[in-house]
Amino acid sequence: MGLARSLILTASDNRWLRENGTKLPFVRRAVSTFMPGETAADMLTAAQQQAQLGVGALFTRLGENVADMREADGVRDHYLEVIGQVERRGIACEPSIKLTQLGYDVDREAAYRSALAIGRRAMDAGSYFWVDMEQSSYVDGTLDMVSRLRQEVPRIGIALQAYLRRTGDDAARMIREGIGIRLVKGAYREPEAVAFPQKSDVDANYVRIAKVMMAPESRASGSRAVYGTHDTAIIRALEAHGDGLGIAPTDYEVHMLYGIQRGEQRRLASSRKNLRVLIAYGTYWFPWYMRRLAERPANVWFVAKSLFK
Ligand SMILES: Cc1cc2nc3c(=O)[nH]c(=O)nc-3n(C[C@H](O)[C@H](O)[C@H](O)COP(=O)(O)OP(=O)(O)OC[C@H]3O[C@@H](n4cnc5c(N)ncnc54)[C@H](O)[C@@H]3O)c2cc1C
Repeated sequence: MGLARSLILTASDNRWLRENGTKLPFVRRAVSTFMPGETAADMLTAAQQQAQLGVGALFTRLGENVADMREADGVRDHYLEVIGQVERRGIACEPSIKLTQLGYDVDREAAYRSALAIGRRAMDAGSYFWVDMEQSSYVDGTLDMVSRLRQEVPRIGIALQAYLRRTGDDAARMIREGIGIRLVKGAYREPEAVAFPQKSDVDANYVRIAKVMMAPESRASGSRAVYGTHDTAIIRALEAHGDGLGIAPTDYEVHMLYGIQRGEQRRLASSRKNLRVLIAYGTYWFPWYMRRLAERPANVWFVAKSLFK
């Protein structure tokens, strides 16, 4: 792992920075590139603007490792309410949650019940339910819970991380069970025992699994093939692969974060029509934002420059 990435990810766990860094005006200005605002109303406005450009959306309220069940229940109620608002506005905007937001660290059964309620509500609204992947210690529990949820919520998908050595096997299992996959590279600091340290190995693993997901027999079980990446070289390679096999671009999707790779977003929206953007909001954005900085250490210089604006 690069030194800059490692340092930024270490800082992402720092409580003092989280509590104080987020108050600094230049940090708030910088985060606005990736986040249209802190409220659900800001997210909905942005999703509506994306819809006008032919781009679908996903939404996530930032938060993780909630330690208080009352707070976790509040998160659940918030998602239920916002799914209703999305339904009333008639926009394509799917919820994406983290299990630890729903109190998974405190009471797994309660987190399961909350996830089930959100999944059922999303299904009723004609939407789809996404579960994010967190640190490697959560992978087994997240896979098992999503498998269980799949019995009640057939329109469900999970994020899988190509940096983990195990992910090829996990993808095969999720495909067998008819669970959608959003393949990402992985955003956390992980030991070499579980994750490839070299970016070239992560990229190779990504492409290998991505091709398996795209195959018509993988999608026949109901699994949805989604590539959560801003890597234009990988996106182009997958497009060439799909075109070569005669697979329609709308049989798979690309999901990107709001505000990142805007040129590539415009290209996908106009020529391929298979793009969604993930719009994040909420007040608990510091660790999430630091992971965005770690993905492209050049972003740190943008933040530094904005200090002097
Ligand atoms: C929709 C979506 C959902 C995600 N969900 C999860 C999840 O559940 N769990 C998880 O661990 N991770 C998740 N991630 C994050 C993911 O793991 C990566 O950390 C992130 O997408 C960066 O990797 P990349 O595939 O874009 O490739 P990279 O090789 O990191 O980047 C490719 C190129 O994209 C550009 N780029 C990438 N990131 C940024 C950035 N932050 N700012 C500016 N330019 C950038 C750069 O030009 C870079 O050269 C998600 C990402 C997306 C898009």
